[in-house]
Amino acid sequence: MELQEIVRPLIEWYQANKRDLPWRREATPYRVWISEIMLQQTRVEAVKGYFTRFIEALPDVQSLASCSEQQLLKLWEGLGYYNRARNLQKAAQVLVAQYGGQLPADYDALLSLPGIGPYTAGAIASISYGIAQPAVDGNVLRVISRITASHADISDPATRILVGDELRKVMPVLEPGTFNQSLMELGATVCVPNGMPDCKNCPVYRLCEGRKQGVAPDLPVKTAKKPRKLEHRTILLLVRDHRIALRRRPPKGLLAGLWELPSLSGEAGQAEAVAAVRGWGLEPLRVQPLGEAKHIFTHVEWWMTGLRITVEEASPSEELVWAGPDQLREEYPLPSAFRAYLPAVEA
Ligand code: SF4
Repeated sequence: MELQEIVRPLIEWYQANKRDLPWRREATPYRVWISEIMLQQTRVEAVKGYFTRFIEALPDVQSLASCSEQQLLKLWEGLGYYNRARNLQKAAQVLVAQYGGQLPADYDALLSLPGIGPYTAGAIASISYGIAQPAVDGNVLRVISRITASHADISDPATRILVGDELRKVMPVLEPGTFNQSLMELGATVCVPNGMPDCKNCPVYRLCEGRKQGVAPDLPVKTAKKPRKLEHRTILLLVRDHRIALRRRPPKGLLAGLWELPSLSGEAGQAEAVAAVRGWGLEPLRVQPLGEAKHIFTHVEWWMTGLRITVEEASPSEELVWAGPDQLREEYPLPSAFRAYLPAVEA
């Protein structure tokens, strides 16, 4: 099977079957960029609302470059991987300083921007500028591994480069963006991960070597990741006059610079929590256990135990701010990891 043979059926299938997604309605370089960064590690359904809100608030490179970090992180709140948002802003600032506020119509120049790797550069270049570059992500690697019945390990960067090189050879010069999107769309809706691919409805059914050889569901080959580290934390929901205490996380590391509910490492007992609370200049009035919750990050899992502590302020703390419901909704970006405990504010 020559890879060239899949191009036409995929493009025709895509044109007839593509989903109506907000970023496809007007595929400007800015909109494609924002959507592709959001879609990394996040499902399409989850991204739709974020994308619309983001574009309304920050409609162009200039507004992204100049917004406050707090506004940016608030717009990103819940999407996770917050460095994606920070890199968007860094790149926007470079675009304003060096490219007149436009994304350059040049693959290598796109690749040089913060947070833009070969996949995103390929997507922007091909979809918005018609430049014949592939856009190879996990979806595309899965689809190509199955179509070619390849057992190459897709966690190996060399496989990604090889697949990119093969696709570059067959990229249709007039419609590179449509071809790239057809591969992405096939991977998202037909040749799906974690289960049986829907081969009967696939436009390359007759060409697919993986299906013919009966190996498609076992592909792609991917070496297992290292297991995540488990970390126990005790989350403190400190409540004073219907407001809760928030603290800034350190500027480096997990959830860097975001706001958090104060927490202690390990499974702290009530006495340890009360001592910590006094250390912040607060007087605990009542302690209530809130139960357990879990949050999964890329490399670590937090196993959390919550304590709701009603407090009085004995002396103001520089470390804590007090947020009411409006500020939580509109001002402070609070990562999803802590949201399990918010319903207990009014307990
Ligand atoms: S025939 Fe099946 S395995 Fe092959 S590309 Fe289509 S959906 Fe995937």
